[in-house]
Amino acid sequence: MIYQNTFAYAKQQDTEDELSYLREQFHIPKDKNGNDWLYFTGNSLGLQPKNTQKYIQQELDDWAKYGVEGHFEAKNPWMSYHELLTENMAEIVGAKPIEVVVMNTLTTNLHLLMVSFYQPKKTKYKIVIESDAFPSDRYAVQSQLKFHGFDVDEGLIEWKPRKGEDLLNIEDLETIVSEQGDEIALLLIGGVNYYTGQSLDLKRIAEIGHSKKCFVGIDLAHGAGNISPDLHNSGVDFAAWCSYKYLNAGPGSLGGLFVHEKHGYNKELPRFSGWWNHNKETRFNMRQPFDVMPGAEGWQLSNPPILSMAAIKASLDMFAEVGMEALRKKSEKLTGYFEFLINEIDSDEIKIITPKNPKERGCQLSIQVKNADKRLHQKLTKNNIITDWREPDVIRCAPVPMYNSFEDVYRMVEVLKGLL
Ligand SMILES: *Cc1c(COP(=O)(O)O)cnc(C)c1O
Repeated sequence: MIYQNTFAYAKQQDTEDELSYLREQFHIPKDKNGNDWLYFTGNSLGLQPKNTQKYIQQELDDWAKYGVEGHFEAKNPWMSYHELLTENMAEIVGAKPIEVVVMNTLTTNLHLLMVSFYQPKKTKYKIVIESDAFPSDRYAVQSQLKFHGFDVDEGLIEWKPRKGEDLLNIEDLETIVSEQGDEIALLLIGGVNYYTGQSLDLKRIAEIGHSKKCFVGIDLAHGAGNISPDLHNSGVDFAAWCSYKYLNAGPGSLGGLFVHEKHGYNKELPRFSGWWNHNKETRFNMRQPFDVMPGAEGWQLSNPPILSMAAIKASLDMFAEVGMEALRKKSEKLTGYFEFLINEIDSDEIKIITPKNPKERGCQLSIQVKNADKRLHQKLTKNNIITDWREPDVIRCAPVPMYNSFEDVYRMVEVLKGLL
């Protein structure tokens, strides 16, 4: 890509961008004077599609109109509402519909999945995570180790970047598993690392784990709606993600869960149950012996919150209309432009630690700040540029292809240059 460092060029890219119409379909937060914020935190909380209100209103209206009968009489009957999300969600992560369900929240789903896929034995019980795993994932696996009676420090193996480096090297995971695989029960890895923005090769991770009979799970919180993870073909055993980051489904909205088809029909897998993973044909006959549903739906427990699902549906309908392929294409270009502009700044105060290869990252760039000077982030915020600071020393910025523009990126970097 040959980019140009001019405002006219950025404007031109927006004019030529076939997805630029999407920005209009989102609420863009504004400052006191009515100017749009430059919003770069879709990796933390995606913006609200203007349609979301309509989707939620529909369910409020049907609840008002039908009460309990809405389970069958609503325009989108609540009884099977989650099924309206499955196909589009599966498409986004490259899975078969039987492999995906929307339910609960991310950390809860990780635990439910570990009930099935973390089955430690006396000598094969350890769990591998990235050294920079998201805290919730770390706490989750630590508590699983403890719950099963193991020592947390002995049981947790960290896949670390090499000395002096910021990114993970897949060969180091290979070494860990080939040397200690007989003691390892589970690999739980962030598909796109929240801190560095590094996107990992899921297929390779699955092969490495399976070579020593370890289960492999992927946290796709920063991958879903950002990269195209091709979950089914990767062969990983399970995955979980949230819908409020790149999937724009609103604060704390429900998460997605993937169980590979190869496990979906295995009724012997240990799991927790409730009435919602019981065979839906006989669910309301009550007093039935438990009969688990096949596929990812067989991990559900409860009847789901429809208002949250309505917000997810509003977003997924947009993703289905646009398609991940077009989004990815724009995303590579937009983030490439962002990177180009930052590299044009003549300053040794900052350094991008995200991989340069577009195949090894999503839209986020992580900018490391020299001497961990937080003030740079604060000054950006004062200038209506919303990014986030992550300890110890990184500003994360995610130009999201659904609603960010080349102009956003250009203006952001102009301000950044001025501040430096
Ligand atoms: C955002 C995020 C979470 C948050 O988990 P919740 O259960 O939704 O609060 C967990 N793990 C990762 C990797 C994340 O990026």
